[in-house]
Amino acid sequence: MRLRRNGSYTLNGKSKGKPNGKKPAPEEKKLYLEPEYTKSRITDFEFKELVMLPREIDLNEWLASNTTTFFHHINLQYSTISEFCTGESCQTMAVCNTQYYWYDERGKKIKCTAPQYVDFVMSSVQKLVTDEDVFPTKYGKEFPNSFESLVKKICKYLFHVLAHIYSSHFKETLALELHGHLNTLYTHFILFIREFNLVDPKETTIMDDLTEVLCSSSGSSSNGSGNGSSNSAGAQNHVKER
Ligand SMILES: [Zn+2]
Repeated sequence: MRLRRNGSYTLNGKSKGKPNGKKPAPEEKKLYLEPEYTKSRITDFEFKELVMLPREIDLNEWLASNTTTFFHHINLQYSTISEFCTGESCQTMAVCNTQYYWYDERGKKIKCTAPQYVDFVMSSVQKLVTDEDVFPTKYGKEFPNSFESLVKKICKYLFHVLAHIYSSHFKETLALELHGHLNTLYTHFILFIREFNLVDPKETTIMDDLTEVLCSSSGSSSNGSGNGSSNSAGAQNHVKER
């Protein structure tokens, strides 16, 4: 079965990134861990079930479909605060006390601001998910051998973007009353990458405090911060093309 995916843009640039920091922040107050905010979701879906591979669907199709959808949703979520994520406010791609660097195709480390880093991520992911040789959409076209490792790479970078929104732009997200969407998206994403072992747990340690709160109580409480006008779980939204 071939699942339908949308997207029809092309861009170039494949790269790898590495965290280059060690310890989490020496206990500064993390607004996003406040119970009044962590309980906010836009849906009561049981994401643990939602992420499981349905019978009769090919694993790669499932990974492709979900990865593409997460890319669109995370891009959309970032776009809601992108006007606050500038070269001045975010001079480096920081998540708590960890700093991420981008590496170009030759493996050269690139010093960049957070918005530049996010742009590198979104551009390269966009290129991959719309590359017919990597994310095939036509019947009879096979996934490449490197498919799983590329999906893992994509998920790692998307995680960096989500983590940056929490660590640097949660206040703005709150002001926009989009924290319920962010929590929902994060929970869904983390359960998905866990289900298929897509991101090294070491990579996500930095957000373990949040993950523990959100993912252990997944679906158990909700006071819906938003007005329920959009759904982070399934539907393809309109995403700002970058
Ligand atoms: Zn930022």
